[in-house]
Amino acid sequence: MITLEHLEKRYGDTYAVRDLNLAFPDASITALLGPSGCGKTTTLRMINRLIEPSGGKVLLDGQDAAALRPEALRRGIGYVIQQIGLFPHLSVAQNVATVPDLLGRDRARTNARVDELLDLVGLDPRTFRDKRPGELSGGQAQRVGVARALAADPPVLLMDEPFGALDPIARDEVQERFLGIQATLKKTVVIVSHDIDEALRMGDYVALMRAGSLEQFGTPDDLVRRP
Ligand code: ADP
Ligand code: ADP
Repeated sequence: MITLEHLEKRYGDTYAVRDLNLAFPDASITALLGPSGCGKTTTLRMINRLIEPSGGKVLLDGQDAAALRPEALRRGIGYVIQQIGLFPHLSVAQNVATVPDLLGRDRARTNARVDELLDLVGLDPRTFRDKRPGELSGGQAQRVGVARALAADPPVLLMDEPFGALDPIARDEVQERFLGIQATLKKTVVIVSHDIDEALRMGDYVALMRAGSLEQFGTPDDLVRRP
């Protein structure tokens, strides 16, 4: 579904990403793992065109992402980032409805969907709908971020260090909850992480990056068996 072909991003004469070739398996979680600065975020943001590649291609269902309209990307790709994700002046419900609203979806249907999604991520809509992000714990806010990314029911979910800002207990909880959701929804998920334990726990597959390129790709078992 998501295929990277000779993908490249250059800043001046340095490469953030260099000749990256990778196919993310459908309906699975792939952890994009590697040390800070190896090009993970740049790669993720080239998939949804927040960053323009300097070379190579991103293919989504065989179609060149460069040819897709921004609305198609917003509809097709949910995006979760560490912390800042939520708009502080909007309620939880309005935050979750961001993308459907941008797409001009029917209000009543969106409202019903928002409640479903809050239930899904384990937040009672009656309690949380009208709260502001400032009133939420880190774990609750990150769940709202996940609900928002799922709002337009995109087949693809890109997550950039989604659990990185949470304390260990909240992180465990949100990770477990997310694995439960994924077991039902079966999205094609890419989770950026620099934490090997998190990658092994969350990933059906792990793509190990180094210096802008792919070093290894395999299941967690493949990865820990190799030296
Ligand atoms: P990671 O997500 O793995 O920590 P990034 O994708 O953020 O790595 O960055 C990869 C490399 O590209 C780093 O060396 C970083 O300094 C560089 N880089 C990222 N964004 C820019 C930018 N806007 N301008 C210049 N260099 C950048
Ligand atoms: P702003 O430009 O005002 O900061 P963003 O571009 O961050 O707004 O968009 C707000 C939200 O919309 C994001 O946090 C994300 O959930 C969603 N979004 C934005 N761009 C994309 C994209 N390319 N693909 C999927 N979702 C997106």
